[in-house]
Amino acid sequence: MKPHKQIKDWGLGLTTPLIIAGPCSAETPEQIEQICKEMKEENMVPQLFRAGIWKPRTRPGSFEGVGEEGLKWMEIVRHHLNIPITTEVGNASHVEIALKHKVDVLWIGARTTVNPFAVQEIAEALRGVDIPVMVKNPMNPDLELWMGALERMYAVGIEKLAAIHRGFSDAYDKRFRNKPNWSMPIHLKRQWTGMEVINDPSHIVGRRDGLLEVAQSAMNFGLDGLMIETHHDPDKAWSDAKQQVTPARLKEMINSIDFKESLEAMQPDEKLQDLRRAVDHLDDQLLDILQERFAVIDQIGAHKREHHLSVFQSDRWKDVMESRTQKGVAKHLSEKFMKELLYCIHEESVKRQEKQLREGEALKK
Ligand code: PEP
Ligand code: MN
Repeated sequence: MKPHKQIKDWGLGLTTPLIIAGPCSAETPEQIEQICKEMKEENMVPQLFRAGIWKPRTRPGSFEGVGEEGLKWMEIVRHHLNIPITTEVGNASHVEIALKHKVDVLWIGARTTVNPFAVQEIAEALRGVDIPVMVKNPMNPDLELWMGALERMYAVGIEKLAAIHRGFSDAYDKRFRNKPNWSMPIHLKRQWTGMEVINDPSHIVGRRDGLLEVAQSAMNFGLDGLMIETHHDPDKAWSDAKQQVTPARLKEMINSIDFKESLEAMQPDEKLQDLRRAVDHLDDQLLDILQERFAVIDQIGAHKREHHLSVFQSDRWKDVMESRTQKGVAKHLSEKFMKELLYCIHEESVKRQEKQLREGEALKK
């Protein structure tokens, strides 16, 4: 879509899969130093060090971050690990302070992405500044808000962009702290060609167990990196204690993840090319069948118009839905997929027929 600069072109020596690690929050200089030391000892130095300085807390009264002082401690990271650092900014004053302390990469948090006023304020503070910005998905599964925040950054000249997938809050599904909704990051990648998405399993799972599974899924789906909250003494962390892991555990996790190759980076082999050709052919057939199906739908529409029948006939719909779902399930297609497919086809059919009825009305006038 837009020619933004990918992670490898940010001028920071970063590559994908990008591994970002560090504590949820910077707490004390000693804490930062200990995390860095353990990362070094474990030979588990991430490419980018994260630490929250201003913490957007859902309820007041919890730890709200150490503020500007914490940015001075980032020198400790540079000294021990010699890697770039990233922190969250939530308003124009955060931006100003982060730039003053030469933070290498900024990120926008989920609670900020939901608010176009706040995102625009940050964008204005960044106008003309050359710094990479990562935008976390909004709390709610709204792709437009996520895209919108990235576009607001792009519009003020921020070309070094990436997205972070941290999951979406859900009032009922408590398996996750924030439900992954994998179709969202995938859809973002479809809509904005080349947009890299870093997965944040820590905020998705909200607990230490289960992080690995989500991180592996992210790699299987073809996301471009991981942001994992890491603390030398997770249980005593001042924020998000349940989900942080030690540098030793981080190393274990990273070593056991199967990082998939990105197909874009390599030439597909013969076998894959053959299989893709087969899919192309089947898709052509699928489209021919759909074309034929809608031609029949239009004939039914004409008949309904002639006989003064309404478009939606609930008994017929119920029958179509149930019988096709059953047949699909027998062919090993999931029930959810069958229902979504049928809704989609049915919606299009209803719209076409309703248009026919309207045109019929217009003719009468
Ligand atoms: C964080 O990264 O610590 C954080 C507050 O994340 P989110 O905006 O995803 O809740
Ligand atoms: Mn956190």
